[in-house]
Amino acid sequence: MAKWQYTKGMHDLGNGCYAYLLPDGSWGWSNAGLIVDGDATLMVDTLFDLKLTAEMLAAYRASIPAAKEIGVLVNTHADGDHTFGNQLVEGARIIATQGTVDDFARFDPAVVQQIVTNADQFGSAGVFMKECFRPFDFSGIELTPPTETFSGTLDIMVGSKKVQLIEVGPSHSLGDALIYVPDDKVIYTGDILFTEGTPIAWYGPVDRWIRVCDMVLDMDVETIVAGHGPISTQEDVRTMRDYLQYVTDKSRPLWEQGMDYLEAAYKIDLGEYRDWNDAERVVVTIQTLFDDFGQAPERPVRAPIPYFAEMKGFRHHLGRGPVHEAYCKACGLTHGTDQP
Ligand SMILES: [Zn+2]
Ligand SMILES: [Zn+2]
Repeated sequence: MAKWQYTKGMHDLGNGCYAYLLPDGSWGWSNAGLIVDGDATLMVDTLFDLKLTAEMLAAYRASIPAAKEIGVLVNTHADGDHTFGNQLVEGARIIATQGTVDDFARFDPAVVQQIVTNADQFGSAGVFMKECFRPFDFSGIELTPPTETFSGTLDIMVGSKKVQLIEVGPSHSLGDALIYVPDDKVIYTGDILFTEGTPIAWYGPVDRWIRVCDMVLDMDVETIVAGHGPISTQEDVRTMRDYLQYVTDKSRPLWEQGMDYLEAAYKIDLGEYRDWNDAERVVVTIQTLFDDFGQAPERPVRAPIPYFAEMKGFRHHLGRGPVHEAYCKACGLTHGTDQP
């Protein structure tokens, strides 16, 4: 049996380190964390909407007195599934990299809400975004960006516990950071690690992301809180590193032949990775790899929304059912998906 159960809610990792998990880790179901020593608290990320974030804060506060007041909130990166609840962490210093601040408005909750509400007007991209984001409620969200930035590394004392923030972006996003608790051998990776799911490289370079995985593999770490998926180990980091290397190796010859990235996505044999959750994300990662190979100076080269149309088509090509199918069956939501 796995050491940790993959169940929704708070998990006590020991020594004042906590994870908060949202299975199944697919689109929008993210993880967050909390580090506590005495009265001092440092929270790692918020969740995708206000309801989920309020639930998480209530769960922390029900069992950890110090969580009444969160001293510091660190955002691992800017994506909404890690930041849209920021406004509920009142009074906290909010710290992230400059890249995260610059990236903060890439997915505006009001725009996402509008697309999800009027999906049909946005074509296939709208239909797939609705499918991915249907379980979430984007109303009332006010973008609440970090108030302080760091670059390189920053050590923060949480009570007498040292917490190290390590800038590792751009790779998954523009401003990725890891949150490391060396004495407890715990690391919160944000979306540098997707466990039991397919990573997505919005920015790249993918090569840097692979080197970040190598760096984590060299660190003295026992417990890893991924951005999505169950509580993880170094073995999961190695698996994801191998995926990124595999897609890189398969993509390069096709780029050298002058092939279009979307055509390349259909051409590549994904092997064992074809069966991974959300395998359609490879479309975005291959475009990013093509930008890497061509040394594109501007990142990202393309806006995120049109990718959702391409990912919908690719998911259909893989023979997958709708995103969140199991969840929506359980909660009674109907998807209203029309396959291309
Ligand atoms: Zn992300
Ligand atoms: Zn995420």
